[in-house]
Amino acid sequence: MKKRALIFSLLIVVFLGCIFYFYAFSRIQKEKTNLYNDLFYRSNIQAETIIDKFFEKDTDPGYFEQALEKISRYEKIVDTAYYDNSGTLIYYKRDSSLDAGIAAPTDGSVITRASEFPFAEFKKGYARFYYSMPDKTDGDIIGYLSITQDTRHIEGYAFRAWRDRILTFFILIAGLFSFAYLMFYLYVIRSSALAVDLLKKIRKSVDSPIDLPNDIFPFSDELNKEVAITVQSFLRARQSAREEADLRYKIIDSTWTFSRLQRFFSSRLEGRKVVNVSNREPYVHNEVGGKTKVFQPAHGLISSLDEMMKACGGTWVAHGAGNKDRAVVDQSDKIFVPPEEPAYFLKRVWLTPDEVKGHYVGFSNEALYPLCLMTHNRPIFRNSDWEHYKTVNEKFASAVLDEIEYEKNPIIFIHDLHFTILPKLIKEKRPDADIILFWHHPWPSAEQFSILPWKKEILEGLLSADVLCFHVHHFCNNFTDTVKKELEAKIDTENSAVYFNGKETLVKHFPISIPFTNLHSATLHDPDKVKTIVGEDIDDLRVILGVDRMDYTKGLIERLKGIEQFYDTYPEFKKNSVFVQVAAPSREAVPKYQQYAKQVLSEVERINNKLQTNTWKPILFLHKQVKQEDLVYLYRKAEVCLVTSLHDGMNLVAKEYVAQHKDKGVLILSEFTGAARELHSALKINPYSAGDIVNALNQAFTMEHSERKARLEAMRNKIVQYNIFRWAADIFDSLFSK
Ligand code: UDP
Repeated sequence: MKKRALIFSLLIVVFLGCIFYFYAFSRIQKEKTNLYNDLFYRSNIQAETIIDKFFEKDTDPGYFEQALEKISRYEKIVDTAYYDNSGTLIYYKRDSSLDAGIAAPTDGSVITRASEFPFAEFKKGYARFYYSMPDKTDGDIIGYLSITQDTRHIEGYAFRAWRDRILTFFILIAGLFSFAYLMFYLYVIRSSALAVDLLKKIRKSVDSPIDLPNDIFPFSDELNKEVAITVQSFLRARQSAREEADLRYKIIDSTWTFSRLQRFFSSRLEGRKVVNVSNREPYVHNEVGGKTKVFQPAHGLISSLDEMMKACGGTWVAHGAGNKDRAVVDQSDKIFVPPEEPAYFLKRVWLTPDEVKGHYVGFSNEALYPLCLMTHNRPIFRNSDWEHYKTVNEKFASAVLDEIEYEKNPIIFIHDLHFTILPKLIKEKRPDADIILFWHHPWPSAEQFSILPWKKEILEGLLSADVLCFHVHHFCNNFTDTVKKELEAKIDTENSAVYFNGKETLVKHFPISIPFTNLHSATLHDPDKVKTIVGEDIDDLRVILGVDRMDYTKGLIERLKGIEQFYDTYPEFKKNSVFVQVAAPSREAVPKYQQYAKQVLSEVERINNKLQTNTWKPILFLHKQVKQEDLVYLYRKAEVCLVTSLHDGMNLVAKEYVAQHKDKGVLILSEFTGAARELHSALKINPYSAGDIVNALNQAFTMEHSERKARLEAMRNKIVQYNIFRWAADIFDSLFSK
């Protein structure tokens, strides 16, 4: 703010300086011109006087000398000379006192230019003014009188005038600048700082009262009064919302909100620390254009967990993958986040490129991921990957153990297939820690899982957790079947628990969701924003939308086939509709993903080449990550959302789309997603069947408004009832009620 005030004041100074310069320049020039005119005028009179006298006293040269001397006494005349009409010098008078330091050409050259009329010339370099006048008798020139004047006083005048004016300018500017800065400080800087301070206090205040300054805006008492009233009423409203949330958080069927979750944690955690663990971090620091900038990865799960962490506080342990991540953390590799309103710590774990390759690219994405997701891709098992996988789990274990060193009964919430042995590593050192592990993918059948060479270590690792969570019940069953097959363990189906090595692990399902709380939220449409994101104006077209990572489990090739067949079967939808696919680049270091991306892009090209016309293209393919806040505009614009995952733990895109539509949208959803088990009113398809996709698209485009509305209403109700806040509360509740 101070920098801006300074720049603002400097701009004013520069502006005034320019005006002042042009004004002073024109004034001084005018003054100089006057002085020169005056010089010329006086030279004229002197010359005429001398010439007259000279002729009257022609025979008395002494008189002429006297006349010259008399004039030179008053004027700055350097020399005076009289030449006859052939240029021969007849009389010459020179004032040597004025000549000091000035090399002036005092010859008769100037007179030759004065023929009929007086001639005057100003020689700037010599500070001289030459004047010569023809001496005429009866119309004939009989001689020339030449006067040379010293003009240093005129140059001196300009210098003094500039000096005085510049001095005045700076005195004026200093005064003005101080005044402007004082005003800016009083009315802008100070007011803004007080307002920011007040807003921060309001934001942070939970129960403590706030001292309201009554002079934030010194120029308006009325504004101060209004601010005070607004703040008081806001605080009152928040207080009652909190009281209401306190009353409601135990009522089963009221909607879960962020503040309700906050109250849940503050009353149920009883001071226990929460440590959240995931491979991906919620905030990444990267260098952009020479500056360190913070980014939040565009990923639904990460932003949902961020909401949960804001509600419960604690520490989130994750891999520090940003190129400036190290530069911003403290000695214990931590940073307080979110940047705009810190609520919890992010602790970064540093991994070597080999560890990332073995743990993330290799074991997680080439072994476990294809093992769990039924997409007919053979998993790749490498010993070296497994070794790196274990090393990385150990690194994370040591980061978590450091974090809970002085904590009693901490709760560790671990996410996903990257950390299957982490629960065991933590429990060995800290049996008092409660561990929850959420498996964000499907769990395969016992037979499918049995091919994994390290299946026992992984199952033992997972069964060290106190609560093991899946999205759907079916995955829990698959897991207990696997345990039955592989380990000597007792399964308690009634209580959804597994007993292994004398320890109980609850195996439960909690379908993940989104932070959707308000059934009545507005659904605005912004064609300009859509155009910016898509790169083309599609406002007049009916839009079919796909939003995915570029991942072979998402069934993009199958979806493209369906689109091609749809336009072949129903040509009436050509030209008035378009398929927009967002495909965020994903796991690009994994060869399988590289091949898949190539295959998808060439399919898009083939279909576009086949179907497009001069004015219409069936597929607009955005091979880029679109920010979540921008995706909302695409969701709102799309009449149909097409989800064709071949297998998917949940699929948040389906829920995000439904949340943006009250009565217009239609969701086409693969029956192999977790979401399909909740969103019964979606149009279900088998993504392997292009015919299913074609029929569903036709049904969607021809569906009555009332049917769309009814289907959406049912799905929206479901999502509001089981949103991310309830998801988090239910998981922790299962631990607390154990
Ligand atoms: N997403 C995004 N930008 C993109 C593509 C996807 O923000 O360009 C988000 C999307 O909003 C959703 C998440 O990524 O929240 C994808 O979650 P989903 O469960 O659908 O699939 P996953 O990627 O977890 O398999």
